[in-house]
Amino acid sequence: MATPLPAERHRIIIVGGGAGGLELATRLGHRLRRSAAQVTLVDRNPAHLWKPRLHEVAAGLIGSGDDETNYLAHGCVHGFEFMLGGLNALDPATKTITLDPVLSPDTGAEVLGTRVLPYDTLVLALGSRVNDFNIPGVLEYCHMLDSPAQAMRLQREFLEAAIRVGAGLLDRVRVGIVGAGATGVELAAELHHAVHAMERWGGLGAAGKLDITLVDMANRILPAVDPATSKHAMKVLEKLGVNVVLGKGVDRVTADALHLSGGGIVPCEIKVWASGVAGHDVIGSLKGLTLSAGKRIVVDDHLACVGVSDIFAMGDCAAAPSHIGKGTVPPTAQAAHQQASYLTKALERRLVGETVGPFLFKPRGTLVSLGINEAACEFPALRRDNSVFPAYGTIAKLLYVSLYHMHRVALHGWLRATALFIADRLRRTTLPPVKLH
Ligand SMILES: Cc1cc2nc3c(=O)[nH]c(=O)nc-3n(C[C@H](O)[C@H](O)[C@H](O)COP(=O)(O)OP(=O)(O)OC[C@H]3O[C@@H](n4cnc5c(N)ncnc54)[C@H](O)[C@@H]3O)c2cc1C
Repeated sequence: MATPLPAERHRIIIVGGGAGGLELATRLGHRLRRSAAQVTLVDRNPAHLWKPRLHEVAAGLIGSGDDETNYLAHGCVHGFEFMLGGLNALDPATKTITLDPVLSPDTGAEVLGTRVLPYDTLVLALGSRVNDFNIPGVLEYCHMLDSPAQAMRLQREFLEAAIRVGAGLLDRVRVGIVGAGATGVELAAELHHAVHAMERWGGLGAAGKLDITLVDMANRILPAVDPATSKHAMKVLEKLGVNVVLGKGVDRVTADALHLSGGGIVPCEIKVWASGVAGHDVIGSLKGLTLSAGKRIVVDDHLACVGVSDIFAMGDCAAAPSHIGKGTVPPTAQAAHQQASYLTKALERRLVGETVGPFLFKPRGTLVSLGINEAACEFPALRRDNSVFPAYGTIAKLLYVSLYHMHRVALHGWLRATALFIADRLRRTTLPPVKLH
């Protein structure tokens, strides 16, 4: 048994209130609110939006504000403190982190200065960003779906293009998406749905004038799922009229096209980069951490950062060993959720000098949305041959929707999550199904 940590006001700081960090802060806040420990959540944004919904924000199917959870209010209810600010430095020797100043988005005036926060236990849950692989033109011309602000920018550009087509100022809405993983495939299907909703509700006249091209180096879409699931998703995209280019990389992006390796171009005004995952740049400047090739933080099987003490990392920013195969735990909301549950228990026990066993990732399956009433899912079929049990269509879509409901349950409890679900449905009966502004 390890020595109990000092009883006086043990400061646990969680940096990053995303799919994993906010669930951890909520649970720990609840459990430790009557103890001597104090839980603080730090995020550079004032509110949380579950990242797997960003493609819906980008297509205008939900407004980013509709589904946000405000950290201050949530912390008040769930027993944790919230600090607004971006992490920019870590000093494991003095056990402090430093936060960037917070500037007013309107005037640029400083709202909060640089702050140095002492911690006893630190959890890094910073998430990840799309990897541009240093390909020329990607950062300059492509949209990425890493934050609500980026998703809103894409939504505005897409809507403006549809308006211009409707007004006869543009021939077609041409969208090029690089990366046929879940994000790229889901976005292609949702944009198709959105332009038809714009037609019905806004009469924009762009429905028959949408060209979406999805490009990937792999030889099938959704390369991480079972070939049968991938084939089903491909059939759905073909039915929607999405043009899929496989076995080709993109080696340059310009203002009006994706340039394919080995020759050929995809002409498009709207370009989205949805390929690859890398750690945020700030991770490279945090002292003492060991980093993997993709700039993720190397942790041991207890999610403790290698080379430092009292620091843990979870979710997309952590390269955690997987006991299934030789790789690391995949960067998914599902893994972040399981790690939040694990760390809740581990950090609580640690306060009284107890330890828990290692973190074991349990794959629960993959769910990919393919439009309004369509999705493709696969679940591990409890057999030794790694085979999967597939589900398609409306049932799969219901399962997909339930995933977000489960995240809300983790944050708000069953009662409030169900009330929010009903409120969403009621809101949809009075509003257009797509944002038209
Ligand atoms: C469009 C899209 C669809 C997806 N669909 C699915 C899906 O269907 N199923 C699935 O399992 N996964 C899906 N994912 C992946 C999933 O969203 C991530 O794996 C998951 O959100 C990771 O959780 P996290 O807590 O590690 O990070 P995040 O949820 O990304 O949260 C990170 C948090 O850290 C904050 N932050 C970042 N840098 C700093 C800093 N310097 N200082 C302070 N705060 C900071 C951010 O503001 C954010 O709140 C999808 C991702 C995308 C983009």
